[in-house]
Amino acid sequence: MNNSDQITYIANVIAIAQADGKVTDKEQGAIAFVYQKNGLSEDDAQAAIRLVQAGDYNIAPVGRYSETIRNLEDMLLVSLIDGDLADEEKKAVLTFAKAVKLSQEQINIILAETKKFVRAMMAETKCNACGVSLPAGSKFCTECGQKIKS
Ligand SMILES: [Zn+2]
Repeated sequence: MNNSDQITYIANVIAIAQADGKVTDKEQGAIAFVYQKNGLSEDDAQAAIRLVQAGDYNIAPVGRYSETIRNLEDMLLVSLIDGDLADEEKKAVLTFAKAVKLSQEQINIILAETKKFVRAMMAETKCNACGVSLPAGSKFCTECGQKIKS
């Protein structure tokens, strides 16, 4: 992807996150995860935020087909991070999926895969000493320092 495609890519994700009128902390965390995963710089992310905040931003397909699919997965990831798809989010995602000519069956597969991924990402483990919730895969408790058995 060229630089302007990268900015569009992340702008699409941000636009979906705020389709329901608010960007929650969890969504913000997921957006940061998405741009880090795709090797985008903080500058690109800032440019994308400005683009969306300018208003009237329309989600646009970027790059090759495989990148478009990855973009759709990332949009779904951000929408699903705080529960199920909000109606506005669902509408925006479906409009995009249809624009890139995905069948309902393909959309369902991508949605199911992304749900699975989000569940794994959100899985928590509890410290067996102090009971605090920790991200899955934690080695030590950040509260009391207890070693966490995996
Ligand atoms: Zn603990």
